[in-house]
Amino acid sequence: MSSQQEPQLDQKPLTPSKMQQQSPRLSTRLQHHPYQPPAGFDAVEPGVHHASTVIFPNVAAMRARDWRSKAGYTYGLHGTPTTFILEERLAALDGGRHCVLCPSGLSAIALVDLALLQQGDTMLLPSNVYGPSRELAERLLTAWGIEHRLYDARCTPDELAALITPQTRLLWLEAPGSVTMEMPDLRGLIAVARQHGVRTAIDATWAAGIALQPFDLGVDVVMQALTKYQSGGADLLMGSVTTRDDALHERLLLTHMRLGLGVSGDDVARVLRGLHTLPLRYHAHDASARRIAQWMQGQPAVAQVLHPALPGSPGHAHWQRDCCAAGGLFSVVFQPCHSAAQIDAFVDALQLFKIGYSWGGPVSLAVPYDVQLMRPPSHWPHAGGLVRLAIGLEDADDLIADLRQAMQRLIPTD
Ligand SMILES: *Cc1c(COP(=O)(O)O)cnc(C)c1O
Repeated sequence: MSSQQEPQLDQKPLTPSKMQQQSPRLSTRLQHHPYQPPAGFDAVEPGVHHASTVIFPNVAAMRARDWRSKAGYTYGLHGTPTTFILEERLAALDGGRHCVLCPSGLSAIALVDLALLQQGDTMLLPSNVYGPSRELAERLLTAWGIEHRLYDARCTPDELAALITPQTRLLWLEAPGSVTMEMPDLRGLIAVARQHGVRTAIDATWAAGIALQPFDLGVDVVMQALTKYQSGGADLLMGSVTTRDDALHERLLLTHMRLGLGVSGDDVARVLRGLHTLPLRYHAHDASARRIAQWMQGQPAVAQVLHPALPGSPGHAHWQRDCCAAGGLFSVVFQPCHSAAQIDAFVDALQLFKIGYSWGGPVSLAVPYDVQLMRPPSHWPHAGGLVRLAIGLEDADDLIADLRQAMQRLIPTD
């Protein structure tokens, strides 16, 4: 329809510049430049290495390389100097000997399940387990013939023992439990599992290697979401699985390889940076959270504050026995006279507290939960609504002032 001419391509042949004619040619030299920086550079932060391909000096070296050993490098998924450094530092922090990194806390949980369980096995999960871990068990593992049973996190060792069958292969612990903050009898439950030859894994995200030393209590596997305190920035996702036992580590490492789990060197560098200030931040979160939790406990709208370091909180005696700090997380149960809509309005009225998941970052967060929907009926004694607060690094007095003004929404108006 149009008689317009197509634009003509410039037919002039490209004449390479002198530079481009040198041998090897430019595009080759861009990939294989001979310059090597001098060895011996040292700095506070280790270098950030990025690699899928790792280069071997010759074929024999490539063939001789065992990807499982940390004596060298094979492929990006099997480790770089950057990831090895973080793994070693985390193993030391947890008091373990080995560590593998995963792209999120949840993938670290999945790694433990897939490495240690097979068809016909059963695992025991606390009824207050991190929600997506239960979802993984209910949806995927069940479909693959791996069963799970829920136990009440406040149960006694004898009550736990009654749930163990010859098929029970793994006991998951969480200290304290997500959202409802029960601190279990770790020593007692771990002892029962060991007597029955059942492996134990703990989600120790809350303790972050600071508040609790789970290996000293006899646990086999320590899992953490580095997303929280180790990162400290609310800006990345990562998980770790730490062990003391060589054979157990090998099993986890093989599954880790088979699943193709990898982490970004840049994210690893950020976690390494976070580790320098981890104890300082953890204790700052802890001190603020205890002050604010105590203040909340004095409010007429509040029925109970669930914070393991507060007397009367579920499992407080276990916290006293096993822990030396408490982090920045706690939950508030409101009097049953306050409707769910009023509690939502309280959360909406907060200014410094932001609404969002996760914790361990610089900014305080609040999330209302309907615990009745999340727990087996007999496992949750409270009638009132619950808000979980994650205390960040703001000034505690300012946070209390924010809570006080938002609490106006809970004063009956009639
Ligand atoms: C956040 C969290 C996880 C999961 O970590 P992601 O990195 O968000 O996948 C697991 N367990 C607990 C207790 C957590 O708080």
